[in-house]
Amino acid sequence: MTQHQTDQDRFVIARFFATMYADEISREMYEALTGKEFLKSLKEAAEKVRNRPMARGLKGFYDFLNRADAETHFILRAEYADIFLNAGPNPIAPYESVWADREPMTHQEPLFETREMLRKTGLHKDPAYPQPEDHIAVQFDLLAELNRRSAAGDKDASQDRYDFGRSRVAWRTEFCAALASADKSGFYKALADLNLAWLYVAHLAMFPAEDVAPQVPHLDMKALAQALDLLPLKTESFLLKPGVVDPEPMRAVPTHCYSCGALCGMTAKVKDGVLLSTTGLQGDPKGAGRLCPKGAANPAHVYSAYRLKEPLVKENGRFVKATWDEALDRVIKGMKSMEWSELGYFRGNDWCNWVHEALFDHLGCPKTTHRPMCDNANRMSNEHNLNDKRPWINYQEADYIIHFGMNELATSYGQRKTAELKAALQRGAKLVVFDPRRCETAAAAREWVQIKPSTDAAVALAMCQVIIKNDLYDHDFVSEWTHGFEEFKKRLMGEEDGVVRDPAWAAKLSGVPKETIERIALEFAKAKHKGAISWTGLAQVPNGMYATAAVQALNGLCGTFDAPGGPSLPFKRKLSPAWGEGQEKPPKGKAPKLNNFGMWAGWAPAFLLQNVESGKLKGMVCYYGDPVLSWGNEEATIKAIEKMRFKVCIDAFMCNTACLCDVVLPDATWLEQSQVKPDWLYDAFVGYYAEVVKPQYNSKPMYEITLELAKRLGLGKHFPWKNIEEAFANQLKGMPLTLEQLKKNGFVITDDAEYYKYRKWGSLNPPKGYGSSGETKTGKYNFLNPVAQEKGVDPLPDYHPAPTDLAPDAVYPFIYVNFRAFQHEHSSTFNNYRLMKAVSKNPLWVNHMDAHDLGITEGQVVTVKSPWGSVEMEVFPTWDIMNGMVGAAGGFGHNRGLEGDPKFPDFKGVNGPAIGKPNTADDMGGTTLLKYIKVRLEKAA
Ligand code: SF4
Repeated sequence: MTQHQTDQDRFVIARFFATMYADEISREMYEALTGKEFLKSLKEAAEKVRNRPMARGLKGFYDFLNRADAETHFILRAEYADIFLNAGPNPIAPYESVWADREPMTHQEPLFETREMLRKTGLHKDPAYPQPEDHIAVQFDLLAELNRRSAAGDKDASQDRYDFGRSRVAWRTEFCAALASADKSGFYKALADLNLAWLYVAHLAMFPAEDVAPQVPHLDMKALAQALDLLPLKTESFLLKPGVVDPEPMRAVPTHCYSCGALCGMTAKVKDGVLLSTTGLQGDPKGAGRLCPKGAANPAHVYSAYRLKEPLVKENGRFVKATWDEALDRVIKGMKSMEWSELGYFRGNDWCNWVHEALFDHLGCPKTTHRPMCDNANRMSNEHNLNDKRPWINYQEADYIIHFGMNELATSYGQRKTAELKAALQRGAKLVVFDPRRCETAAAAREWVQIKPSTDAAVALAMCQVIIKNDLYDHDFVSEWTHGFEEFKKRLMGEEDGVVRDPAWAAKLSGVPKETIERIALEFAKAKHKGAISWTGLAQVPNGMYATAAVQALNGLCGTFDAPGGPSLPFKRKLSPAWGEGQEKPPKGKAPKLNNFGMWAGWAPAFLLQNVESGKLKGMVCYYGDPVLSWGNEEATIKAIEKMRFKVCIDAFMCNTACLCDVVLPDATWLEQSQVKPDWLYDAFVGYYAEVVKPQYNSKPMYEITLELAKRLGLGKHFPWKNIEEAFANQLKGMPLTLEQLKKNGFVITDDAEYYKYRKWGSLNPPKGYGSSGETKTGKYNFLNPVAQEKGVDPLPDYHPAPTDLAPDAVYPFIYVNFRAFQHEHSSTFNNYRLMKAVSKNPLWVNHMDAHDLGITEGQVVTVKSPWGSVEMEVFPTWDIMNGMVGAAGGFGHNRGLEGDPKFPDFKGVNGPAIGKPNTADDMGGTTLLKYIKVRLEKAA
């Protein structure tokens, strides 16, 4: 046996494994693998080799292929999608970066090492192959090439081959073992066993023959290579190209974080095209040079091993890989199988929403967004009584702050605010937090006031009553800048119905002592710089609109809007249309409003099942969101999606909803695409999100997907840009900045913060050219909501008890409250290994006394039962949740990715709000009631 022959054999074997792992098994390869000639040769090799593991490997491979029938090729394709494309629950990432340290993140040090080896050997990865260099197939192809060169007498290649191969033996063993146990078809297990056997034999072949006698590894390799040589393997490298590609210079890219969409400025450090780290961007107006843990963990998002890599289409109930053309054609066919009015469009984020919304608005598809799951009830008040959904408090100068149902320190929409709140607390400002839970912010506050969910309106109204009764309100502001004060006052004083909304009345409803309500009201009114604010804690419960109006009325009475320390009135520059001169935006179609509420009409996610069963919705295009995990009752949502005629998911990860879809399109993450976005905190600014790295694998940004869909629908002329930057340039027309400036700095401040802007504006609404999410019709702060008046619903803030079917009772005595973990963002961060390591599950918070009464202890599993479903959760007894409430962090419960992967059993949470009442929402804004579910606890069997 000559060295030349052995190298030749090694070349064939390495090329074989490169081919097997590079892609799904092609039809041509499948025919050859199951052809008589190859099977015969495989069988002979199995009988001939003396190394027992290799004999077993060959026999297993032969047995599988010999049993193949008409279904087998499809099964192999589906198995490939499950295992290597992350469609299944136990995927195997074929990258050294993952197996070298068993952390499921790609693009780590082994990638750079492999690139160095490629440079040393004068090669580079074929850019057409959409995988990183440390993909196992690329490494096998490199090994094949080095063996080919060695066989031709190249001594350097011979040494490189040993060095490169040897350093990779350990992780390949782990990879093969995991692959063997993940495979269900039998094929990849057989392949993994054969691979392991070859690694063993190749290892033995490095020793002198007498040391491994009586086995002869070289002969065993020859037998294997002879059999494999019958397959249509490429004779030249098929994943590598000749030529050295020099590393790209290190870059620091100014951009923004979109983990929670708050636009904290971010500097992305990029080495040779790979994102290494993210840190705060100094001077930026929203993050002020800081990132939260989610922002700092952004590289683990883009390089999560669970990324979707290729378009997937469902056939016979299983996903298989498709080309973009095949998948998009199938999407168009599915979309056209119903009327446009029956096809729902859900966009879970607002990334470049001007482009995809234009398409679906033109078609006349009903549309929904994150909003009716989040804070629509708040908005129905703030957007009509003020000029925006959420005027942020200016903490810089505040000395008295009240939060209702808002965990600012853990769910902050921008890190500058968090820093300034902490600074305010340090300099002695008083923070009072009304919350049923001692959340992070309540823990930092001077005063945590326990309050029953959905009763905030009563407390806020009683505080208003105290302020008016004691004549502590701002007479000038109230007379000049508010509307409906007299009507509001009458209600508070009981002049309408005889019920005085005073502290004694509120105490009975809320559980907050009347003395506490009175004291805080007086303290607030007498404080110099102050503000009160609420968020989703008041929106995802009954009576959200009225409670928000009651909280905001405290600001209205005290004239704190735009005052130092008060809620700062929103203003941000309005972008021009992306359609420039001679470009025609597609005209808007007429989409039906699927659900009607007191103040809002649209498609309410909570009503999905009803909308499907009534025939209003027959299909869905779901972009960046997981309805199964976030729309309320999980069983109802799944049932609805299953009943749909056609559904497609566009996402960077295989979410629970994607599992139910007919087509799944791999979205680029937000770090792989760009957008221009105006925003404000205290200053107004325009921010730029850079394409930090190129879209990985075969993913595409939604901008491109939209253009492809439009083209196929014959609407290409309405989406005319040669690239997205042309659209950005149109959007920036008339702005005091250029795209180049934005790219260079990451942001441009367009308007400095100012107090009392409304005096200059002559209205609480910002002037022309500025945007905000709402508008006050009177130009003043409305105690009396003019839009509610027009719609014939009660226009004044008030407390309305929860409907009896939702309120706790003797059978279901607890209220389940859903909250946020600081380290996670809705359902979108659960494939981020760093964040999952920080918070990997969501135990059920139970008050110590309730736990004692129920006889349950820490770590015990209980069944949380509502009238509409049940889940099992681990108990976490604590004093940090009030009596009669239980709750857990939301967003958990994925059946794919880290939570679904049996290799990471510690990453496992539960979707608690899955047991809410189906087809139920707040009666004004249609918000899903994720924070108000009546339950009882039972010890799990
Ligand atoms: S608050 Fe955190 S997650 Fe949100 S944008 Fe800022 S750094 Fe990113």
